[in-house]
Amino acid sequence: MSLVAHYLSRNNPKGKILLFDSNPDILAKRGLFLSLWRERYPGMVTYDPNAELTAVAADGLEIDFAARGKVTADLVNVIPPQRAPALLRDAGLVPAKGNWVPVDFLSHESTVVPGIRVLGDSIASAPGLPKSAHMASQSGKVCAAAIAARSRGLPPPAEPVIANTCESFVGADQAMHVAGVCRYDAGKRTMTPVAGAGGLSKAPTAVEALHAIGWVYNIL
Ligand SMILES: Cc1cc2nc3c(=O)[nH]c(=O)nc-3n(C[C@H](O)[C@H](O)[C@H](O)COP(=O)(O)OP(=O)(O)OC[C@H]3O[C@@H](n4cnc5c(N)ncnc54)[C@H](O)[C@@H]3O)c2cc1C
Repeated sequence: MSLVAHYLSRNNPKGKILLFDSNPDILAKRGLFLSLWRERYPGMVTYDPNAELTAVAADGLEIDFAARGKVTADLVNVIPPQRAPALLRDAGLVPAKGNWVPVDFLSHESTVVPGIRVLGDSIASAPGLPKSAHMASQSGKVCAAAIAARSRGLPPPAEPVIANTCESFVGADQAMHVAGVCRYDAGKRTMTPVAGAGGLSKAPTAVEALHAIGWVYNIL
């Protein structure tokens, strides 16, 4: 969104971006995004929460909302409700009433179909934890450690600690991040955020843009 605003500010400054979100609010970097759009792209970006989409016209340029009626635009980008793909649903890994694959966070083995390990966005994330490439990569290491332990007849490591970082470019040369750490809670049998660990950018900067590019090269 911020990159589209960056593009429009240079190529079509009268352009408008209407962001309709079926969620009640922005989930990550809320304050940073709102102040960025207000200060850097004034009057260009509007954010509308609780916007439940009911229909998309055949030409794809008219969308209909339960509460506010029809909206037309020159370009519409609809993001459908997210869920694990058909491959995993057909394999019986997703419970009938769920959208995601529940796993044991010590091994990433499915809790529904033993012997199958699942990583990444398709898993039922622990409460309050994001789906991200960084989390997927870190979970892969937890999973690998569990497989290595098993091959030696050992249980998986008992207290995995993993981290998350999410970088957002807000223009051609500035970025901002949110980061967090979580650890396994044996009592609750889930990953839980570590209070006081992690952080949030104060504002987007050029240095963070370099960090973001470094993050991409590292994770790839
Ligand atoms: C705009 C945006 C910004 C993001 N920024 C960040 C960030 O800064 N940091 C971060 O950590 N994460 C970020 N993420 C999230 C990150 O991209 C995802 O969490 C990550 O890609 C999940 O990896 P995955 O391998 O689980 O799934 P995916 O990357 O979605 O890969 C799944 C693959 O499986 C393929 N597939 C599905 N079904 C089949 C089938 N039957 N046969 C063969 N292939 C199949 C799909 O085509 C896809 O290529 C961002 C995401 C978006 C959309």
